[in-house]
Amino acid sequence: MSDDKLIQLLRAVKLRPTISRISVMRVLDTAGGEPLSADDLFRRLMEQGERCNIGTVYRTLQQCEGAGMLLRAWDDAQRRSVYRIRQGDAGGPAVCLLCRGCDRSFALDDALLYEHLARVMQQHGVRVADQAVQIEITCAACPRIGYAS
Ligand SMILES: [Zn+2]
Repeated sequence: MSDDKLIQLLRAVKLRPTISRISVMRVLDTAGGEPLSADDLFRRLMEQGERCNIGTVYRTLQQCEGAGMLLRAWDDAQRRSVYRIRQGDAGGPAVCLLCRGCDRSFALDDALLYEHLARVMQQHGVRVADQAVQIEITCAACPRIGYAS
């Protein structure tokens, strides 16, 4: 996604395209759907030589999530919130597969699957918030598959 496109997206949700918002969105866009925590984002921004502080990253994430540009999910293993860009208008919350072996994640933007999962969870007395569902898996290509318990 070009910076112009990111600026367009920010304007579309009535957020002023500040440098920190564009930078954060650019890192999330480059991550290609991989959910990132505020710490991940901060580290990547620093690696790219962007001047920022962790407080700004948190605030930016909250604003972009509040505006509906980002989806937040809870990474239970690492006890932290992770974020990714909400894809398209009809995208809505999605399902994210997270490999417990190699930590790779696979975002599935499948509204039907999400609805089905939400319904099944409800039958088990679990209500999901309007956010991505994470499912832990061990992927077939996992180099650490032998160590998975
Ligand atoms: Zn794996």
